[in-house]
Amino acid sequence: DTSTDAGTEDAATLRTPIVAVLGHVDHGKTSLLDKIRGSAVSEGESGAITQHIGATAVPLETISSMAGELVDPDDFDLPGLLFIDTPGHHSFSTLRARGGALADIAILVVDVNDGFQPQTEEAIDIIQRTGTPFVVAANKVDTIPGWNPNEGAPIKASYDAQSERVRSTLDEGLYDIIGDLSSAGFSADLYWRVQEFQRNIGVVPVSAMTGEGVSDLLAVLMGLSQRYMREEMEVDVSGSGVGTVLEVKEERGFGATIDVVVYDGVIREGDTIVVGGMDEPIVTEIRALLQPRPLAEIRTENRFERVDEIEAAAGVKIAAPELDDAMAGAPVMVVRDRPVEAVVDDVRAELAELEVETEED
Ligand code: GDP
Repeated sequence: DTSTDAGTEDAATLRTPIVAVLGHVDHGKTSLLDKIRGSAVSEGESGAITQHIGATAVPLETISSMAGELVDPDDFDLPGLLFIDTPGHHSFSTLRARGGALADIAILVVDVNDGFQPQTEEAIDIIQRTGTPFVVAANKVDTIPGWNPNEGAPIKASYDAQSERVRSTLDEGLYDIIGDLSSAGFSADLYWRVQEFQRNIGVVPVSAMTGEGVSDLLAVLMGLSQRYMREEMEVDVSGSGVGTVLEVKEERGFGATIDVVVYDGVIREGDTIVVGGMDEPIVTEIRALLQPRPLAEIRTENRFERVDEIEAAAGVKIAAPELDDAMAGAPVMVVRDRPVEAVVDDVRAELAELEVETEED
């Protein structure tokens, strides 16, 4: 670790784990993300969620008020969860960080009626290759014939309240999923039976429509992060920022900009950065760091508001000259206490690694 600010004993802070959603088309990835955002907002507190560029942050307090007795905030010191807004394994496999996945945890969404499908298998392969911890959301439980919905309820209560016939139909779907996970080499079980989430994959029955099980899913993600990933979440918030480009976008008034998820350190306006480009790494200086404006203020002409700095983990739009040839999936590194050339070499090395992996696909 490089920095030791005079006076402060420890610059390390715990960052928010980054969560990605994967699964077969139409199994409910987008709906589930929408439900998580919507349920968090309807908790009613201001600051229930924060919309970032390309991501949504749900703070621990919101998760714990949604999850009730499933999450006691005293058991956690991680600040919450940051969900990447674009679901799907294409973005998951493109978005890397230091050779691993950008996402720290994944949610694998499987339609409980439809079970494993080709893209579920592909997602499992990628999760396995990147060694990403994951939970399975067995979605659409509300479509089980005869299901008696209980809006927003924890899944165990809702499950216990169903008729025996409904429960056994659901069980069949769940055991098919558990069987398919087992064929893929993962020991899995219903999440309330799992003791060790590192060795056994938790399956959480949910409905992205009624919100049943969503609080359970958040509780499992939070518990998994806290128990098994806490050390990896220690970042030096005064250190040089590092991130991954989600997208390169033309914005009126700014030219080419990059949407970036920052997973380490801090990025400030005016910083020199090195960004992976089509031909060569791009060295440029940040003109503006942009965040979405809160919805209430969106009537002004500009959708974005400028911020001076942004700490990991967060999504941010960077406006800077020369970004036209920047690449989605490429690293972004702040140049602070090292020579530019050293940082350029690092970016080049990471890009080379990405290319090798793409060729293997
Ligand atoms: P994606 O392709 O995985 O992002 O799937 P979507 O979120 O677009 O969902 C596909 C379709 O399934 C849409 O028509 C959703 O409204 C529907 N859907 C998703 N989740 C649920 C659910 O839990 N219950 C029900 N009844 N429908 C769902």
